[in-house]
Amino acid sequence: MHYDVVIVGAGHGGAQAAIALRQAKFEGSIAIIGAEPELPYERPPLSKEYFSGEKTFERILIRPAAFWDERNVTMLTSTQVTAVDPEAHQVTTDTGATIGYGHLVWAAGGSPRRLACAGGDAVGVHTVRTRTDADRMLAELPKVNRAVVIGGGYIGLEAAAVLAKAGKQVVLLEALDRVLSRVAGEPLSRFFEAEHRTHGVDVRLGVTVDCIEARDGKAGGVRLAGGELILAELVIVGIGIVPAVEPLIAAGAEGGNGVSVDGHCRTSLPDIFAIGDCALHANAFADGMPVRLESVQNAHDQATVAAKAIAGIEAHYDAVPWFWSNQYDLKLQTVGLSTGHDATVVRGDPAARSFSVIYLKDGQVIALDCVNATKDYVQGRKLVVERMTIDPARLADAGTPLKELAG
Ligand code: FAD
Repeated sequence: MHYDVVIVGAGHGGAQAAIALRQAKFEGSIAIIGAEPELPYERPPLSKEYFSGEKTFERILIRPAAFWDERNVTMLTSTQVTAVDPEAHQVTTDTGATIGYGHLVWAAGGSPRRLACAGGDAVGVHTVRTRTDADRMLAELPKVNRAVVIGGGYIGLEAAAVLAKAGKQVVLLEALDRVLSRVAGEPLSRFFEAEHRTHGVDVRLGVTVDCIEARDGKAGGVRLAGGELILAELVIVGIGIVPAVEPLIAAGAEGGNGVSVDGHCRTSLPDIFAIGDCALHANAFADGMPVRLESVQNAHDQATVAAKAIAGIEAHYDAVPWFWSNQYDLKLQTVGLSTGHDATVVRGDPAARSFSVIYLKDGQVIALDCVNATKDYVQGRKLVVERMTIDPARLADAGTPLKELAG
């Protein structure tokens, strides 16, 4: 078997790479090899509308089955690529088959980091990355009264919100002294902690998990380092991902925490691109520092850049990062990257549940987190793109639209 383009990973990036290739009038053969049994689907609803039952699986498919047939994209599902041979231009799958390629697009995302402690693999301990993960939790949910969520990142917080809304007793454990500490400033962390507590979630900060107490291989609770046992029938672990890059690194690609790519999403290996969660790239919105972004925006936009490069169209990855999270009736929208900020401005009143946190570095606007404040999100984008220097007092004045400040 040989395809002009082989895409490894049938997720957000992989799907968009194929779509963008056809949009660029690429007429060669395309195959997407995906480890999961499903056609590409949206991952964000797994901790939101799919987990809460508001959306069926069909509604979260990125495209219906017919779309891929019509565009002549071959889908090889339930197939894992285990090795890459850059010289022979071929990949090996878990069935031992070899598939040749002209160009390879590595869009394999990452696997959830697991608890290393005793009981971490007990029945009832879950990570949330795939539809299978979500379905497994949903199947257990009717018998669950008490749940513990380990990790106060977006996925953990979203899952906690769904569980609390479903009437479960929820304890959220965070090892650091605030939730979202990796991605957001303190005002946003404190706001979300308060919201979760208002909805009945027991948010515990600065706590370390000792082990999962399991009987007959089934989780019954979480033991904290201080000795306290929190009883739970369901444990969700949301402590980040490990980028899925082993076959590429083993084949000699540069990288470490992800595979390194240039501004066209090319790896150091010939004719091999990498995109999405696993791609370590210099991001203009992180002062050119190498970062991996875990967002639909990044997967989508890098896929488009790689597809254009393959189709011979000039493109460079310099897209503005954006992200969202839904918890309860709160819609968070972020633009820019707040990492490295040295000041924050709160615009609007968190108590009114509609406000923005604006991040500054050397006096310039680098990012916004907007909670139920879509206007700020839309209008603040220009401030971020142009790294505008604006008097913090004016930024804080919610009565003045940001577009007026953007001039
Ligand atoms: P993925 O979408 O993860 O796709 C990678 C695919 O590759 C997977 O299907 C995997 O099984 C497959 N694969 C891995 N290794 C191999 C192999 N060796 N061979 C074959 N196939 C392989 N982002 C947002 O912007 N907003 C949100 O609100 C948001 N919420 C999220 C909620 C959850 C629960 C999760 C898990 C993620 C969320 N994200 C969100 C992040 C977003 O989903 C990811 O950034 C995005 O899916 C990355 O796309 P990707 O193509 O890099 O990887």
